[in-house]
Amino acid sequence: MEYTRLRGIGVSPGIAIGEVFLTARVIFTQPKEYIPPHRVEEELARLRAATERTREEIGRLKAEIEARIGEEHAFIFDAHLLILDDPAMRAGLDRLIREENVRAESALSEIHENYRRIFESIADEYFKQRQSDVTDVLIKIYKNLAADGPAVPEDSQGKILVAHELLPSEAALRLSQGGVLAVALDMGGQTSHAAILARSLNIPTVVGLRNVTAKVTGRDRLIVDGTDGEVIINPPLMVRKEFQSKKVKYEAYRQELRRVATWASVTLDGVRFAPMANIELPEEIGHALSYGAEGVGLFRSEFIYLQRSTLPTEEEHFEIYSRLAREVFPRPVYIRTIDIGGEKALPQLKIEAEPNPALGLRAIRFSLRNRELFRIQIRAILRASVRRNIRIIIPMITEMEEIGEIRVLFREAREELTSQGHPFDPGVPLGIMIEVPAAAAIADLLAREVDFFSIGTNDLLQYYLAVDRSNEYVSYLYKPLHPAALRLLKHVIGSAIRQGKDVALCGEMAADPLLAIVLLGLGLRTFSMNPIFIPRVKKALRAVEVRTVRRVVQQAMKLRSAQEVEEFIIEKLLLKYPDAFLMTGPSF
Ligand code: PEP
Ligand code: MG
Repeated sequence: MEYTRLRGIGVSPGIAIGEVFLTARVIFTQPKEYIPPHRVEEELARLRAATERTREEIGRLKAEIEARIGEEHAFIFDAHLLILDDPAMRAGLDRLIREENVRAESALSEIHENYRRIFESIADEYFKQRQSDVTDVLIKIYKNLAADGPAVPEDSQGKILVAHELLPSEAALRLSQGGVLAVALDMGGQTSHAAILARSLNIPTVVGLRNVTAKVTGRDRLIVDGTDGEVIINPPLMVRKEFQSKKVKYEAYRQELRRVATWASVTLDGVRFAPMANIELPEEIGHALSYGAEGVGLFRSEFIYLQRSTLPTEEEHFEIYSRLAREVFPRPVYIRTIDIGGEKALPQLKIEAEPNPALGLRAIRFSLRNRELFRIQIRAILRASVRRNIRIIIPMITEMEEIGEIRVLFREAREELTSQGHPFDPGVPLGIMIEVPAAAAIADLLAREVDFFSIGTNDLLQYYLAVDRSNEYVSYLYKPLHPAALRLLKHVIGSAIRQGKDVALCGEMAADPLLAIVLLGLGLRTFSMNPIFIPRVKKALRAVEVRTVRRVVQQAMKLRSAQEVEEFIIEKLLLKYPDAFLMTGPSF
């Protein structure tokens, strides 16, 4: 048995060693099969019957998953029902059968190919991953075309699941059974449903391995290292021993995470701070809270559009926001209105390509040009605010006038809701993202106009330092400790504090222990980040005293470069507070 090592993307940390369970790859018919014209009606009826069987199947799966691992994981099946009923898709299938006289199987295959091409042209990784929902539904209809319906899945318990792709419903069904040791997939990315689910169920998972299904057989033994993104086929004894000890260390680390999650968020000198979670899907709430999140500091609402192939209605928006508010209650939820446009294209909307998308029609600029979409979203958020734990964030504010326009729209939405008898929180706080340098520069003026700031350092620093972080030629210039960045952040945080307004930071900077300590010294108290980083940031902030950190940061601000700042801070703080830098953890 050959010993091979494969590299992929680790999307759920942890290590598992065990036997393989290889799931069959689902493929549509190739080549095309035709029917004689007089059989068209019969073929359409066959397709309709399969669609109805699929509807029942999705309903059954939903109930089963709900009972097994809770409502939050059954959510994708609602999305699947919407895809199943998508008028454009159904019309496309009917047209292919009626006009091109193809078999229902071939029509499904062609529609699938069309969707694949659309999704492939999308730059945003998360949006791209949503193709699997469409595939999932189409495959279900496909299998239901067979007279005997879909096969009962075999048992993958106690084994390592290896598959080409784990479609969302399959992921929910198999992973929720408990007992799957790990997952290794050819396809997938960080934000695929399988990855999100595996993380929340703590199943070590590596995706994007390209050809793991071609390399393994059902007789092989595997190691899956979800922390470092590696899969090892038929490891020799030495390698097995090495990973056994890595597994023991990782498990000790997880124990530590669980302990830290229950600790109070308070510095050594008694100052409270609040770690919060950035999430993209309501399904992530349980996971975020288990890491010690004291609320959702950023819900990226644009991701709602990815759950479906048509535009979400006000009711659909409302259900999602209500669910967030309910499940996070009594903690706060910061809902950000959509940040789409630019490179975040949406299949449902015809957004024109722009020559310079990062500086183009995105976020609030897009919403103010698409007022009806914006109005629907505002109404839904307000309606969901009855528990009084929702806060609204407007992304990419550049100038004062935008706030004026937004206030008018909010007033109109409130008046409408009142006249229609819908209850809402009249005092729902309205805040803005500070992520355009011009907004940061006038933070003192903006702080008078809004209820809070949320600093988006991912965009703010890329615009301020003129550096695209994903461009390998210039990414070395992306330095959050650049003295210019520190001056700007000090001004923004200080402006909010002087006006008595809340200020949070939700860029990736908040997830780095050293940078979080610097931000604490600049006066920040609310840190929102990918939930997996909460324990290490919490541990770092608990280990320092604000009075010392403030003084050290003030001195560091007089230095000339990011490197000098970093060295100075480490030198001054490491010896005094060694615990602050002890916890590193998985590197994603
Ligand atoms: C940011 O820009 O820092 C931010 C949190 O927003 P996003 O990453 O969604 O652009
Ligand atoms: Mg941003």
